Amino acid sequence: MATKGVNPFAMAQAQFDKVAAILDLDEATRELLRWPLREYSFAIPVRMDDGRTKVFRGFRVQHNDARGPAKGGIRFHPQETLDTVRALATWMTWKCAVVDIPLGGGKGGVICDPHNLSQREQEQICRGWVRQLARNVGPLQDVPAPDVMTSAQHMLWMLDEYERIHGGHFPGFITGKPVGAGGSQGRTEATGYGVVYTIREALKLLGLDAAKTTASVQGFGNVSQYAIRLYQQLGGTVTCCSSWDQGDQTSYAFRKKDGIDVDQLVAISDRFGGIDKAKAKDLGYEVLPGDAWIEEPVDILIPAALENQVRGDNVEKIQPTVKLIAEGANGPTTPEADQVIHRRGIYMIPDFLANAGGVTCSYFEQVQSNLNFYWEKQEVLTKLDTAMTSAFKAVSELAEKRKLYMRDAAYVISINRVAQACHDRGWV
Ligand code: GLU
Repeated sequence: MATKGVNPFAMAQAQFDKVAAILDLDEATRELLRWPLREYSFAIPVRMDDGRTKVFRGFRVQHNDARGPAKGGIRFHPQETLDTVRALATWMTWKCAVVDIPLGGGKGGVICDPHNLSQREQEQICRGWVRQLARNVGPLQDVPAPDVMTSAQHMLWMLDEYERIHGGHFPGFITGKPVGAGGSQGRTEATGYGVVYTIREALKLLGLDAAKTTASVQGFGNVSQYAIRLYQQLGGTVTCCSSWDQGDQTSYAFRKKDGIDVDQLVAISDRFGGIDKAKAKDLGYEVLPGDAWIEEPVDILIPAALENQVRGDNVEKIQPTVKLIAEGANGPTTPEADQVIHRRGIYMIPDFLANAGGVTCSYFEQVQSNLNFYWEKQEVLTKLDTAMTSAFKAVSELAEKRKLYMRDAAYVISINRVAQACHDRGWV
């Protein structure tokens, strides 16, 4: 999304270049991995409810599939761009590799604002997206999933269109489906819970008792809500969270010093996690400007909204109390801000590790869908915890051993794995 700040794809390439140099990768491998393998950009004409036809722009980028079918979500956002989708597809490649699941990286998007679209119009966008790509995606090629402003319902419409075109049942085509319609137990919780599994492990390394820590969270969408829930179950206190206000086209922070109540806030939010300011005030929340989340004197910051949120112009607002940052969103920290965080010695759990729980559970969903045999919720969550914990340990141990920043250590593991798969296949 063209949010203020850095072009996310330039940022993804800069992160890659830094680690390619550490790894001394050969020129051809660098060239291959700096760019997506394939990109699709297309039109989706939709007959709107008022009878007019509107043409939406859709994208799918397959960054790399050397380790398995491309995997990654589809975002609906008014500021979506091809470069953002490229960046997110690239990060998906590293994300699947760091948790060592046999999938590559892809991402999709549509330039649209679901706030202003009826359910029927959204269904037509979903079906149109699949019609344009029906031959280029599928269980063995590229497997989409939900992301910003897309839900289980969108996934089911997409699956239905895909199955109509191909004439059969292909539940492994897409993940994040509703439970009971090919979805997996635990998928809704998975990304937020995964963030907290990594926080729990990091706190152990830092010698901190989770129950005595405080956190501030940016965003109040799916990732944020489930991260807050699990963190509170560990005994932690979330003093502040921010949320996008569609009416004012800006975000606000909601603060309660003794801890926010997720259920209470969900009850006064729209389906995108936009919290009603007046109702929040009545419930005793302080309503502050959006950036207040970053200034909270807490132990942990969890940016779980969008890319480009922790930047050169606000990174200095991070209080000296902050010991840990866990990136729930994709690409929330610009390279400039990242340098400051690194220099200040704040422990960083980078996005493609911290938020890998979603895609890991998507992988479990795909396995269940392909077998047509579904697991109990506890089984899914136990497997998720095991996968996230071992990925975190592998990265933190490498960071410790080679004295690397956590983001670089995670990249070293991922890029090595993907480069190896490309070499083994004889691509480079
Ligand atoms: N959209 C999520 C992500 O960025 C999940 C992707 C997936 O499940 O394939 O990781």
